[in-house]
Amino acid sequence: MKLIVDLHLHSHYSRSTSPDLTLENIYKWGKIKGINIIGTADFTHPLYLQEIKEKLIPAEPGLFTLREDLAKEIDSQLPASVRSNLMRFILSTEISNIYSKNEKVRKMHNMVILPDFKSVDSLNSILSQIGNLKADGRPILGLDSKKLLEIVIGLDEYAQFIPAHIWTPWFSLYGSRSGFNSIEEAFEELSDHIKIVETGLSSDPFMNWRIKDLDGLTLISDSDAHSAQKLGREANMLDIDLDYQDLISALRSNDERMLGTIEFFPQEGKYHYDGHRSCNVFMSPSQSAKVNGICPVCGKPLIIGVDNRVNELADRSRGEDFKPKKHKLVEYIIPLAEILAELNNTKSTTGKRVTEQYHKLINSLGSEFEILRKIDINTIKGNGFKEVAQAISKLRQRDVYIKPGYDGVYGIIKVFPPKEHDKGFQLGLLN
Ligand SMILES: [Zn+2]
Ligand SMILES: [Zn+2]
Repeated sequence: MKLIVDLHLHSHYSRSTSPDLTLENIYKWGKIKGINIIGTADFTHPLYLQEIKEKLIPAEPGLFTLREDLAKEIDSQLPASVRSNLMRFILSTEISNIYSKNEKVRKMHNMVILPDFKSVDSLNSILSQIGNLKADGRPILGLDSKKLLEIVIGLDEYAQFIPAHIWTPWFSLYGSRSGFNSIEEAFEELSDHIKIVETGLSSDPFMNWRIKDLDGLTLISDSDAHSAQKLGREANMLDIDLDYQDLISALRSNDERMLGTIEFFPQEGKYHYDGHRSCNVFMSPSQSAKVNGICPVCGKPLIIGVDNRVNELADRSRGEDFKPKKHKLVEYIIPLAEILAELNNTKSTTGKRVTEQYHKLINSLGSEFEILRKIDINTIKGNGFKEVAQAISKLRQRDVYIKPGYDGVYGIIKVFPPKEHDKGFQLGLLN
């Protein structure tokens, strides 16, 4: 069956996340968004793991559901349009590996997906010898990523290690500030075990297809949500059985069961362009090259964004339009609350009017993914959402205005022409 899967998010036990990231709220928002399998996140945290064990019960092999009494309570708060949506949990976490290799400090985030509590307990007992798992839902460990990979492989045939958001400058495999230039450099003789990588919000498959190092690997996309509302801002589409092993083997093989990814416009990511947040400076890779990567305001090196870093490591040119044999569907979305914020002429996606309209849409039409991707434009219009219908129609045609993100500042994607004083917008896209 066709399922939408979001493997990477955080609980409220991770630093700088919203207190609303509880298992109950993840369940609730999973249904509102239309996600079918969602990571628990943060299973390395002892208190959170205790909660996971108390509140989730086994459903299909390797998948979990919210305990019946809790589910009943949440379901009673949900509109009928999304109440019966299928929602399962899978055991997932992210680890921050900070270590020195070849005389350089490396900082990498890695995801781990596991089939059962037995392997979670084994992993936690090994990792608790290395660092303090209680300090953060995303634990920081002085452990080589390669060593972590080796530990994960040893847990279970279906234990899965996935380098996370592989392009972010500060904490990733290819990061411009603390990463590597190849998978081999990071994982050496274990490189063959890297079958799946997460492309992150600031890059999309088209950008990643320019890199030979990634040929043959499965590209996945997840929300990395730090609040419940942000769940599913990126996700994966699969045609699989409700079964942990089927999910993992589909991802590893990248066969026809892996259908594709739902993507943020990469320019909306926080590190797409080069720039300095505090100097209000952002530049495309070619503009940045003209100033040798030096900030014209403060004179210090710019934070090199993902677009530039991809150029640096690319084996294929941007215009080559190379598509791998096993390329998958790439669908772009703008979160519904952002579309509503634009229509209401406000920056806030959590204000009263936007929230009211958001829930009105969900109540009348179904989940956010249904609304953004599936429901006929005339049906949206016919239900009294004329402007929303127009906006979504433009989104589906990728007819948008883009201001790229840089140095931790999110980019902005608009469906209607920006006001004159909004500088830095580029017309449309795309690959
Ligand atoms: Zn991360
Ligand atoms: Zn500067």
